[in-house]
Amino acid sequence: MRSRAWVEIDLTALRTNYRTIRERVGSRVGIIPMVKAGCYGLRSPAVIDVFEAEGPWGYGVATVAEGIELREGFDGRRPPVRRPILVVTPIPPGGEQDAAEAQLTACISDLDGLDRWSAAARRQRTTLDFHVEVDTGMGRAGFDWREVQSWATAVRERVGPQLRWTGVFTHFHSADAADGTSVEVQWERFQDTLSRLPVSREDLVVHAANSAAAMRWPEVHADAVRPGIFLYGGHPAPDIEDAAAIAPKPVVAVRARLAMIRDVPPGTTVGYGATHTARSWERWGTLDIGYGDGLPRSLGNRGSAIVRGRRVPIIGRISMDLTVVDLSGVPEAAPGDIVTLIGSDGGEEITVDEVAGQAQTISYEILTGLTPRLPRVLLDGGAPDSETR
Ligand SMILES: *Cc1c(COP(=O)(O)O)cnc(C)c1O
Repeated sequence: MRSRAWVEIDLTALRTNYRTIRERVGSRVGIIPMVKAGCYGLRSPAVIDVFEAEGPWGYGVATVAEGIELREGFDGRRPPVRRPILVVTPIPPGGEQDAAEAQLTACISDLDGLDRWSAAARRQRTTLDFHVEVDTGMGRAGFDWREVQSWATAVRERVGPQLRWTGVFTHFHSADAADGTSVEVQWERFQDTLSRLPVSREDLVVHAANSAAAMRWPEVHADAVRPGIFLYGGHPAPDIEDAAAIAPKPVVAVRARLAMIRDVPPGTTVGYGATHTARSWERWGTLDIGYGDGLPRSLGNRGSAIVRGRRVPIIGRISMDLTVVDLSGVPEAAPGDIVTLIGSDGGEEITVDEVAGQAQTISYEILTGLTPRLPRVLLDGGAPDSETR
């Protein structure tokens, strides 16, 4: 690798995390890997190859464009995906035609949306599938569970030769919380809704669980689960007590080159705003990575990096392209060294959850924030196989 900085994706760990979920849910429950936002920022179609080999029920995307990308095999670079692809957000008016052409499965939240989906099916002279989303407390999309009497029959009436009702789902808002009460409440609301649907439960794929729910509550596994963050190595519930028991294998590492080293006298300042001043002679190292690569700017004077197996502090503000660390504790460090911002080196490890905590956000935002400027390097047991997307 001659790059200044890059993202490593450990496909073996990804596969292991998938299999951990498989073990947890058993062989009868379908797995719908959530691959939205470029597989949570991993941005590598090789991720899909790993999932395809494991035989998932289908995939979940957030946008029509993401679904089309899967169907078209990332511009023909991979085999096209033929399994169901759920667009888990409401398709905006006007987006139905493209979604229909790609035979995506719409997730329907209101009757207008269903009518537009139906019209798209007629225009295409095809049959389209849809899942109904039930809002049991998430409040962003879905039919209100309290009004099932008014919408369920109307939905059923629209089903016909061109429109197949194939699934129903809900989404938990606090499956990562220590207290499972809200999951229980939402699950009861969902069960209540299911019991009032004018279709046979057998004809529908019923799903609810995200990573945290899939790992923590077998009683909500239903017919399929929709894990995301766990697959990509983010802890699904970092704040709960038995967190270690459900930890995924780390999948993503972020590394950068040590570009230069200087010994600076007391009083020397570093970075915009000069927020760090050397108190004595210090050895500083400049890393070829910054917030323009997705390293959170909030890690300035707070985060750390691993150099030659040892942790060093990030000093001063992070710039768009550069970050400075205090190398006083690793005097043998040399320009060209590979420095780890996320991942392990020697006995040290910086997890994506640690970085998220320091940046006062969640692992999801750290991963999806890794920009395309960082080439993606695939590791799968053997030698790295580089790929840039
Ligand atoms: C993103 C998403 C998921 C996956 O959630 P994780 O916490 O990443 O496992 C599941 N369902 C829906 C509807 C989502 O939008």
